[in-house]
Amino acid sequence: MQKKIKKERKKVQVKRVKQIISLLRKEIGKTTTAVHSKNPFKVLIATLLSQRTKDINTEKAVKNLFSRFNSIRDFLKADIKEIEKLIRCVGFFKVKAKRIKKLAKIIHEKYHGKVPKDFDRLVKLPGVGRKTANCVLVYGYRIPAIPVDTHVHKISNRLGLVKTKTPEQTEMALKKVVPKEYWIELNELMVKFGQRKCLPRNPKCSECSLKKICAYKKARK
Ligand code: SF4
Repeated sequence: MQKKIKKERKKVQVKRVKQIISLLRKEIGKTTTAVHSKNPFKVLIATLLSQRTKDINTEKAVKNLFSRFNSIRDFLKADIKEIEKLIRCVGFFKVKAKRIKKLAKIIHEKYHGKVPKDFDRLVKLPGVGRKTANCVLVYGYRIPAIPVDTHVHKISNRLGLVKTKTPEQTEMALKKVVPKEYWIELNELMVKFGQRKCLPRNPKCSECSLKKICAYKKARK
């Protein structure tokens, strides 16, 4: 009996997740996750640069940096002062410049110039936490994973998909409720949705197509 109830609950949960994904897809339109999947090193560096930095400044720094350097070898030879100059619009640019050089060296020497494809190796790299490692897997290699940033953490809780306090708890909880086939697109859908509609401070609930199934909205009626 217990097993049957559990199975039924799971079915309802999956149905709800599918409904959420479908509404998010309609809100966001075409996702571009596949486009990123050509240069895992670029994904790694972009995610590193994005730490404690506004999206607009991250984009600028990534553009500056990768229009000057492209391969890991280029970064090995690069002058650290030049890297600093190219990324000075992001927070902690001096620390990040040092880290970029260090990452290029480790990946060149230890991994023959290839960014590792597995989570455990990725999180051993300096400055690489769960979110960055998962971003490399999803955007660099299209390996199913769930990178959780503020948007993903907040939106998942608002929708009532999870009830968690930290991004790490959110990642674990999402992995239990979201079928694996949706993991790759989940981050992009939620990040864009968080930038356009479900804003961190003032979500635009009145114009949101998820409002009928949103726990946050329901609690405010
Ligand atoms: S109804 Fe509001 S809180 Fe809920 S998902 Fe939409 S914008 Fe976010």
